[in-house]
Amino acid sequence: MWPLPFHFLPRKRHFCIENLSKFAYNEAHSRSLDIQTNMAIRTIVQLDNPILRRKAIRVTDFGDKFQKLVDDMIETMLDAPGVGLAAPQINISQRVIVVRLPDDDESKAEYGDQAGRLYVLANPEIVKASKEKIEGVEACLSIPGYFGKVDRHQGVLIKGLDRHGKPVRVKATAWLARVFQHEMDHLDGRLYIDLASEVWREKPKSEGDPPGESSDDSSAETPAPAEKHAGD
Ligand code: ZN
Repeated sequence: MWPLPFHFLPRKRHFCIENLSKFAYNEAHSRSLDIQTNMAIRTIVQLDNPILRRKAIRVTDFGDKFQKLVDDMIETMLDAPGVGLAAPQINISQRVIVVRLPDDDESKAEYGDQAGRLYVLANPEIVKASKEKIEGVEACLSIPGYFGKVDRHQGVLIKGLDRHGKPVRVKATAWLARVFQHEMDHLDGRLYIDLASEVWREKPKSEGDPPGESSDDSSAETPAPAEKHAGD
């Protein structure tokens, strides 16, 4: 997958979607999550896979197969590591997403009980969204190495079903709201690069870079993903 350089994390961590450091992954695994032990890491499909452009179908069967899918999605998200994953990203065209913000001290201070909480939502729908939109930087596990600036609602109220089919509502603000909007877009075949005002590529770190300096280059060439789907 796309490991985020550790030095990059503190500065932009609150704005990145789906991607986190191995540090956060290990930390997440040290916590007890409501997940099974026979879960498997599945392959995350990349931008050229047409499933990412398909409208996913609603979940109607919450049986064993679905439970296994949810467990695998959680495992795959944590392994990537990421803060969210939608089923189409592992080649399953179903309307289900998993989201989990890290629960380190800084995240807890900023996001309270939203930090470290695992959300599994089937058939999610936004029922209310704030008028206020905020711009933030996003990335996607299916488009490694790229970033984009995207306007998102500052707050959203989402209704959906939990992993057992029970109706739930989630109120999310700030980064959590952004993650939900990003993941729910995946269920409609929409990617952040479709909405971004600007997309750029993280330049591979060169040997000459001084330690601690970010190596991303905002003036990079027009990225291939945006170009490829400009007409979608
Ligand atoms: Zn994504």
